[in-house]
Amino acid sequence: MTKKSIDEVANDINSDNSDEAGYQLLSTIYINNKSKLEVYHKACGKSYFVNYKDWRDGNRCPYCRGTHKKTTQEFNEELERKHLPYICGKYNGALVKTGFVCNRCGRAFNTRPIDVLQGHGCNCYKKEK
Ligand SMILES: [Zn+2]
Ligand SMILES: [Zn+2]
Repeated sequence: MTKKSIDEVANDINSDNSDEAGYQLLSTIYINNKSKLEVYHKACGKSYFVNYKDWRDGNRCPYCRGTHKKTTQEFNEELERKHLPYICGKYNGALVKTGFVCNRCGRAFNTRPIDVLQGHGCNCYKKEK
């Protein structure tokens, strides 16, 4: 097997859309398929370490798989840390629309949690740009 370059690995990981919004490779060095890579899961906003061999075997975000499922309260704490709008509905995953209240203008709106995490929550955020 020929050795892959970091670009090939990044392309592979960044184009994977199997898990809601997909993944992004944060590591910039690739040594071999046993070395740990840091991968960011866009849907939950968490990063984790996985080697490329395990990634190819289907090893995906441990926070969204397995036992851990984010609760509404955990999601709200995450929003607070990032100074983003508050959730007022129930969190059912990053791609399920729910209610939010803007922390800047107080407007209530419905959107997907992932949009809020990526800074596309309330209209007043857009006006600043
Ligand atoms: Zn995840
Ligand atoms: Zn607002």
